[in-house]
Amino acid sequence: MANILVIDDEQSIRKLLTLMLKKENHDIQTACDGKQGIRMAKELSPDLVITDLIMPEKEGLETIREIKEFNPDIKIIAISGGGVVQPEMYLKMAEKIGADHSFTKPVDTDSFLSAVNQLLEC
Ligand SMILES: [Mg+2]
Repeated sequence: MANILVIDDEQSIRKLLTLMLKKENHDIQTACDGKQGIRMAKELSPDLVITDLIMPEKEGLETIREIKEFNPDIKIIAISGGGVVQPEMYLKMAEKIGADHSFTKPVDTDSFLSAVNQLLEC
């Protein structure tokens, strides 16, 4: 069992990911924007953070950078449905900044869960 923090401004995505990860017996906490996400990451020291990229308050790229800065051991998966540009652009940037994996929304359950498990093993 791992502690996972899900950061996304869309409630439906938070719910979906929570259900998916709870089935795998992980402990899930959620935050609805980057600001809250960073605060919770500091408090909880999760094993893994899954973060959306386009969010109010503080967007995902900045969130990833800050989390990796205060704790480089926290694994990060970025997810995005894109915005004014294709999601691939954002996701590539996210990986450059420090995300260990990235997925376009809607995430493919199987490959998403295998990335989660792979990150939690190492
Ligand atoms: Mg969003």
